[in-house]
Amino acid sequence: MSAFDTPDAQTCGTILTIDLGALVANWRDLQARAGTEAAAVVKANAYGLGIEPTVTALAAAGCRSFFVAHLSEGVRARQVAPDATIYILNGLLPGSGGSYAAHDLSPVLGSVEEVREWAAFHASGANLRPAALHVDTGMNRLGLSVGEGLALAHETNSTLAAAGIGLVMSHFSSSEDEADPANTRQMAAFAALVAALPGIPASLKNSSGHFLNACPSYQLTRPGYALYGGNPTPGQPNPMRPVVGLTSRILQLREVEAGTPVGYNGRWTARRRSRLATICLGYADGYPRNASGTDSSAGGSAIVGGVMCPFVGTVSMDLVILDVTDAPATSAKRGDPVTLIGGALDLEAVGAGAKTIGYEILTSLGRRHARRYVGV
Ligand SMILES: *Cc1c(COP(=O)(O)O)cnc(C)c1O
Repeated sequence: MSAFDTPDAQTCGTILTIDLGALVANWRDLQARAGTEAAAVVKANAYGLGIEPTVTALAAAGCRSFFVAHLSEGVRARQVAPDATIYILNGLLPGSGGSYAAHDLSPVLGSVEEVREWAAFHASGANLRPAALHVDTGMNRLGLSVGEGLALAHETNSTLAAAGIGLVMSHFSSSEDEADPANTRQMAAFAALVAALPGIPASLKNSSGHFLNACPSYQLTRPGYALYGGNPTPGQPNPMRPVVGLTSRILQLREVEAGTPVGYNGRWTARRRSRLATICLGYADGYPRNASGTDSSAGGSAIVGGVMCPFVGTVSMDLVILDVTDAPATSAKRGDPVTLIGGALDLEAVGAGAKTIGYEILTSLGRRHARRYVGV
């Protein structure tokens, strides 16, 4: 038992298992590949896996820098990582400087306005950690333009120094696709900016960036998805260790004749005499409704007794129906476990079955599952 386990891990039907040892191994692996310091991106509650347990494990392994999206996530990370540098990716909301100071957090400043507001807050005498400067090199989402960054870099009366900028960073839009020419354009634009800011550490690589040819690591990398076992090289074998497992249990079984409609609105019809298992997991648990299996389109799957069994009918709020006709009857009984994430059902396969990406599967894994933290 880990201190972070939810108390009902023994009795709840659905159990999310998080291997913190594999998480730490993935972080070490990426840091070794980078050949420089690797941070950990733990936004969105550590991609759904829990900020406190993941940050605790990574900080104990030597991770010194964390990135979250919201200030409230930074406050949670700070409680378990008192010495780390914690960057808030979504930047400075107007007037929020005091909250950063109170929790010793570092904003990722994403516009000239934010840089100026932070510099002014600095001048008020607050004792602040260095902030990061986010420059947009092609995503067009957050960040100063490269032109604005260069203009600030060439100022004689340096606003960047006044703002205590300790890191310059940019974010890839397509690094999982080595062939996308956006990667080289972004690398070139970022290199020009880094050259104009001598002495300021830089950061560019997200998870997939670690696997891009000819991409410099600079002084810090920012992996997220790959830490949690997601494949940073889609279409190729996954170099990372799996971190997440999701199992549920069979509540009921029934036999239906060919032609029987199943689930809400009868959107799946049995084509043969079938054995169906209803399991305790649904969209309220964060499993996307887009994983429904209908007469016109296949959806998600679960592994029952070693056999891949398709979802049939729409995913309900609390339930999914599986076609277990081909599973061994000895492993498809009331109460038996089924695997929803694990083995051949890796995050990529689960994402594809739900017509989304593994990132969204991870981050939607609801709070409703019992959680078991292992590997520590
Ligand atoms: C989410 C995020 C990351 C991590 O991306 P992964 O693809 O999950 O590795 C890194 N940098 C920024 C700015 C991000 O928003």
